[in-house]
Amino acid sequence: MVCRSLSLSLLLSLSFSALPVFAEESPQDAQATNEVATEESAPASQESIEQEPAQEERPVASPMQTDAAADTEPMPQAKSIELDKPVSEQELITPPQEKPAEPEEKEKPQPKPQPAPAEPEVAPKLEGRPLRLLGAEVPPATATRLPWSPSQHFEGVYSATPILVVNGAEPGPTLCITAAIHGDELNGIETVRRVMYNLNPETLKGAVIGVPIVNMQGFHRSSRYLTDRRDLNRHFPGDRNGSSASRIARSFFDEVVVHCNAIVDLHTGSFYRTNLPQLRGDLTDPKVVKLTKGFGSTVVLHSDGAKGTLRHAAVAAGIPTVTLEAGAPMVLDELSVSHSVKGIRTLLNQLGMVSKFRLWGEPEPVYYNSTWQRATNGGIIFSKVQLGEFVSKGDLLGTVTNPITNVRNEIRSQYNGRILGMAMNQVVQPGFAAYHIGIEAPQEQISPPEEVVAEDTPAVIENDAGSDNGTRETTEDKPADQQTPASESDED
Ligand SMILES: [Zn+2]
Repeated sequence: MVCRSLSLSLLLSLSFSALPVFAEESPQDAQATNEVATEESAPASQESIEQEPAQEERPVASPMQTDAAADTEPMPQAKSIELDKPVSEQELITPPQEKPAEPEEKEKPQPKPQPAPAEPEVAPKLEGRPLRLLGAEVPPATATRLPWSPSQHFEGVYSATPILVVNGAEPGPTLCITAAIHGDELNGIETVRRVMYNLNPETLKGAVIGVPIVNMQGFHRSSRYLTDRRDLNRHFPGDRNGSSASRIARSFFDEVVVHCNAIVDLHTGSFYRTNLPQLRGDLTDPKVVKLTKGFGSTVVLHSDGAKGTLRHAAVAAGIPTVTLEAGAPMVLDELSVSHSVKGIRTLLNQLGMVSKFRLWGEPEPVYYNSTWQRATNGGIIFSKVQLGEFVSKGDLLGTVTNPITNVRNEIRSQYNGRILGMAMNQVVQPGFAAYHIGIEAPQEQISPPEEVVAEDTPAVIENDAGSDNGTRETTEDKPADQQTPASESDED
């Protein structure tokens, strides 16, 4: 299969050049490292970025803490590499163990302890800060791959997930782009590759952290789930002492997520459904609204996110987060990938992190409400509509034909709206969520946008309303075949 071999070669190109320290880390060391990383976390770099001073009150709940002391602790410096330069399989199998003296041979200047504040009177040139995560320090104006490995190794095999980091020469926010939390969602993997490999650390303001494959277990098995059939994206922020999924989630949250000032989490439809490229976010949160506005011409759908999703947990921790849904699982499609790449590049421009990517189009309408139309009987579904099509009440969306009895039923739209997601032609059970119709929002339902990134104060008062429209239900821990394909299973 084309997509399979493609994704394999992708994986190969995603290897990391690990520092020896990482490869030999014992679980205990890893734990210690975690703690250090967590403490200094969302970083000092923010402070230098943020021109306005108001940043005292940092709520207790926020995982983003600054610890000035931790900044001075020595940390191995990450090897600066050209991210887009292919690496050989040999390099993957045997990480460069033989070079423990990596920091010394760096040609990049060591990060200055502190720029002497006295010198420049008028326009001091702002200098980026080293970014410290995953037990390493990434100097400004460099790029690298760092291995993240959840402390639990189910198979007993060291199999780390590469975390791509580009730390810009100048200060700015840290934007994180995560993909394949569901291991069968491939478009995001390619999206991260294209975005990351085209960033220039010399001109970037702030940092971009790209995680092509969060759920490596699922990816290896072409599965949405972890090996124990749990959905990783129902276990954030996780629990160090919880289930396997909870531990993996916690590790990712502590080691990567807390370093982000904003997150774009990439997904596709689920279970043979495909999605029009669309952003999903909690539009009652002004910072999330602001983030969605940065993507240019992309449909936005309000959704506060199921509990346990990375998006929900990150927003609760004060990190504005949106999911970008595009396409279907198990396939790579160019339209979805290029739309996503274009959207993220527009966002980078809007956040002032890059200047080379141009603003892209006018914002698309926002859909505050959406609904699923389901198959009323089982059979083979054939669609008459296409993704993105505008439909009116009564329009024929598709037919479901029972191949045995030859009874055919029509699915007609009960709403005026737009097809944001739909089932691919397939055999369906009665009740299968077939067409996701977005209903355009009246402007007053949306919070006005508010500046998002490089702020230290968390965005949200988390109201723990689990369900806003009665369609959401907890699918946690249910295997795929027992899950209702309701709207939330297609989300995040
Ligand atoms: Zn997903």
